[in-house]
Amino acid sequence: MGKHRKEDRLPPTAGLPLRNKVVAAVVAGGAFAAVGQPLAANAGAGQQRDVQPLAGAKNLSTAITGTQNSPAAVRLLKTQLPAQAEARSEAQELAKAKAIEAERIVREEAARQAAEAAEEAKRAAEEKARKAAGFHVPAEGRYTSGFGSRWGSSHMGIDIANSIGTPIYSVAPGEVIDAGPASGFGMWVRVEHDDGTVTVYGHVNTILAEEGQRVGAGEQIATIGNRGQSTGPHLHFEVHEDGTKINPLPWLRERGIDVT
Ligand SMILES: [Zn+2]
Repeated sequence: MGKHRKEDRLPPTAGLPLRNKVVAAVVAGGAFAAVGQPLAANAGAGQQRDVQPLAGAKNLSTAITGTQNSPAAVRLLKTQLPAQAEARSEAQELAKAKAIEAERIVREEAARQAAEAAEEAKRAAEEKARKAAGFHVPAEGRYTSGFGSRWGSSHMGIDIANSIGTPIYSVAPGEVIDAGPASGFGMWVRVEHDDGTVTVYGHVNTILAEEGQRVGAGEQIATIGNRGQSTGPHLHFEVHEDGTKINPLPWLRERGIDVT
């Protein structure tokens, strides 16, 4: 039996294949020793040694599955996971909708600002073009009367109504050739431009330029008044081209000015 005891002292880390060999050796030893020892005792000892590692492995497996995947835990996961997934999905949908809405607001605001900027740029460009061309509105106000036949007589200019004291500007660079009293207009200012065209500003309240003075486009020369034959405060504006009184509206429009 001394041979068998040696097999018992094998280190516990010995692998199963080796254990099987040990069992085989034990069985063989048992068979060899069958003369003096019952075979069943040897075989039993061998079986016992062989089962232990398997039992240990089985216990370990049960321990692992028991803590991590017990039927109760699995049932809990099975009921909670879909609910969690649904909640997560709803939150994601909400976040996505909010993001889309925020993006739409940003996009609309950007479009509005772009449109405003474009409009502002257009105005600036038009103003710049007018200044480059050297033309300016004669006065801000309401276009009340056009050029031509009126009340059985000829109206040789246009009227722009506004309150007394509203600035009157020279429409283009030129030289002031008249600044003072005038029959019918009460007081007027006349400016001769570089191409010989003369512009007339009638019914003025105050005169802010002198005869012989050089004025620029948009330079204030007078204020709107109600002097002379006038039915209310307004500027009477005329354009004389080669000595002929012409319709100021198309003349102004050709130069980028629209007073209507
Ligand atoms: Zn008039």
